[in-house]
Amino acid sequence: MDERRNIPATDRVLDEPRLAAAVERFGRERVKRAVHTAQRRARAREIPADQVVAEAAANLPASVGGLRPVLNATGVLLHTNLGRAPLSEAAVTALREAAGTCDVELDLHTGARGRRGANVTRGLLDAVPEAESAHVVGNGAAALTLAATALASGREIVLARGEMVEIGAGFRIPELLCSTGARLREVGTTNRVELADYRAAIGAETGFVLKVHPSNFVISGFTSSVEPGELGGLDVPLVVDIGSGLLEPHPRLPDEPDARTTLRSGADLVVASCDKLLGGPQAGLLLGRAAVVDTLRRHPLARALRPDKLTLAALHATLNGPPTPTARALERSHRELRARAERIAESARAAGVAATAVDTVASIGGGGAPGARPDSAAVALPEPYSAHLRGSTPPVLPRVESGRCLVDLFALGPEWDAELTGTILRSAERAAPTPGRTPCE
Ligand SMILES: *Cc1c(COP(=O)(O)O)cnc(C)c1O
Repeated sequence: MDERRNIPATDRVLDEPRLAAAVERFGRERVKRAVHTAQRRARAREIPADQVVAEAAANLPASVGGLRPVLNATGVLLHTNLGRAPLSEAAVTALREAAGTCDVELDLHTGARGRRGANVTRGLLDAVPEAESAHVVGNGAAALTLAATALASGREIVLARGEMVEIGAGFRIPELLCSTGARLREVGTTNRVELADYRAAIGAETGFVLKVHPSNFVISGFTSSVEPGELGGLDVPLVVDIGSGLLEPHPRLPDEPDARTTLRSGADLVVASCDKLLGGPQAGLLLGRAAVVDTLRRHPLARALRPDKLTLAALHATLNGPPTPTARALERSHRELRARAERIAESARAAGVAATAVDTVASIGGGGAPGARPDSAAVALPEPYSAHLRGSTPPVLPRVESGRCLVDLFALGPEWDAELTGTILRSAERAAPTPGRTPCE
């Protein structure tokens, strides 16, 4: 008999519980397309007829958003490949509330048009009283672009050679600045720059002096740099890119610059990123003197760089809500992390997994606190576990170090421990398949 006669009809496939659930999430038309593709393959004898349902399910996206949640067990707190800062519960609630129609640009008292993001600006000025005004754009790079375009297009930006930084994945700040039509005026050498170097470079062509936080490397040895406090006294605007978005000093990250201290020491404008140590959504902050911020806000480019309502809502919740997951991670003690690692390793050993708790050194990542080496703890597993953990649901991304798979707890709160333990145990089954089963079952 021709096996192709057994290919199930579309309606029957769609009634299978697995696909009926998918219809809820992806809509009937999308699921139908996946079924048709599977049926075509069966007709072409590329798959057996009884595999049509499984094949159709495999043809659908793994998640509604196209992005899958991943547990960050790398020990890098802000991992750019994992979306940097996880949002707080408050920010997630804010996203849902703003997702429909909302008063993003409406004054409900008067019924007239309001200023977009006015609430967020107020929250920022409360958190950073040193700033006279604030403006939010899509990310840190957009904030720099707007500042360079509005304040220095066709003119010069004075910048120390040691601060010509590449942030990551080919993102070079000097190239971005030049793309706005500004010219760079490099001062000093790779390791040293003096106030006199800046003085000599400043003239009629200067748009502003820029300081960039070297956020992912440290230069040590015979070095010198000039602090914002000294540069603020020069007769041109001082823009400081602090990178990771701390609004005030953090006791555990003493070398990381913050917006309040930087403005107090004389910066006219501070540029920062919101999805790093601020722990919020991707956005860029511009904080400083009213005249400077107004110039940026009124520039035609501002419209192209403006954030959407979801970002504004999540940022507002981050500024006004309880401590973010990022802030909480920085609070946890090594002792607490070690105790959690011991408990998870013990549960795994009880199920026959070669797991041990070990001390590790974590990092901040995401272009922040490059010198910080926070003590952390991890569950150490045989190296093959790294692939099994990545392939589990939810996927867990560990770090591989010296031939071991380390499930580092630094970036994960204790609310994830049960999930982590379960995932390790499920991975163990796949690592050592029971007789008669194939590893991918
Ligand atoms: C991360 C970073 C940026 C870029 O910010 P994004 O929000 O990633 O665009 C710019 N400057 C510095 C110093 C940074 O650390």
